Amino acid sequence: MAMMDSSPLSTPAFWSPRAAALAPYVPGEQPRIAGLVKLNTNENPYPPSPRAIEAIGQAAAGGLERYPDPESTLLREAVARRHGLAPQQVFAGNGSDEVLAHAFYAFFSQDEALLCPDVTYGFYRVYAQLHGIAVEPQPLDAALRIDVDALAARAARGCGGIVIANPNAPTGIGLPLARIERLLVACQRRVVLVDEAYVDFGGESVLPLVERHPNLLVVQTLSKSRSLAGLRVGFACGQAPLIEALTRVKNSFNSYPLDRLAVAGAVAALEDEAWFRQTRDAVVDTREGLALQLEDLGFEVLPSQANFVFARHPGRDAAALAAALRERAVLVRHFAQPRIAQYLRISVGTREQCMALVAALEEILGA
Ligand SMILES: *Cc1c(COP(=O)(O)O)cnc(C)c1O
Repeated sequence: MAMMDSSPLSTPAFWSPRAAALAPYVPGEQPRIAGLVKLNTNENPYPPSPRAIEAIGQAAAGGLERYPDPESTLLREAVARRHGLAPQQVFAGNGSDEVLAHAFYAFFSQDEALLCPDVTYGFYRVYAQLHGIAVEPQPLDAALRIDVDALAARAARGCGGIVIANPNAPTGIGLPLARIERLLVACQRRVVLVDEAYVDFGGESVLPLVERHPNLLVVQTLSKSRSLAGLRVGFACGQAPLIEALTRVKNSFNSYPLDRLAVAGAVAALEDEAWFRQTRDAVVDTREGLALQLEDLGFEVLPSQANFVFARHPGRDAAALAAALRERAVLVRHFAQPRIAQYLRISVGTREQCMALVAALEEILGA
């Protein structure tokens, strides 16, 4: 065989059967194009708290030659303070994606089906496959809402656990706390994982239920409402035995998932309540205006409690719309998936970015 045939490094012959069988998550693109209106990955359009940036600078100025605290104690204490929990009820990870991956390993077994909505965050199926967990998707109702009654009835017959995002992704639709409590009761023998990545933008958190429900694990992130997607910080809250299981998995994988800069920046961001409220309120305000403008253009917009809207145009193909927007340097997310292939997921940007999106859509639609 000629050596130039293919690079040995890219030869699947060296892949383990497990690696070859994976179906990895495909994140939204992060192109480096100047002037791009980037509304495709639900990042916050505003910068993080200046206090977080200052704290990161201070952390960088001294101490990087030492490993960080393996338990991220300062961060766990800051989360615990803010949410009225004990530090033993908080686990921290390198982005909530990592926290979710550890939680799937720690709580869901290989012999009972994990229940999750058929339309939800794509990474859940990926983690399940990575860890060999069978998933039984539960259909959203006709309005693309989580069907709590059906899900609770299915869970009561026995299951390996439940995972939901609340508000759900990519629909943006949230469930009230009492509905989720119904799931916790129906699935008492297994963990119910509630991913609250977007809860700060108008959802109702189930953190107050942690004290009452030993099977509840709540996962949150600093990527969206704290504008720190680039720092990679997420956390989970639950009763101490759940947190202990996550710590066991973490310490079987990477003892130091959070570096010194991440902990310093995250603590400062969590303590800057004024910055948090101001930027969060701006996103929520802009979302409401954007939804109205999209409706004026003929879109149907699902009621969003997140920092994005999920919308479809009855007269236009969603993939074609996304492509036409891209030609005009506006990026939105399209999922070529059953049930949602005619929707666009549009992150809420600054007012200026949303105006640019609407102007591009007016041009495309000939409005
Ligand atoms: C963005 C997102 C995450 C991942 O957040 P990171 O903390 O950045 O890893 C998790 N779950 C959902 C539903 C998300 O949309």
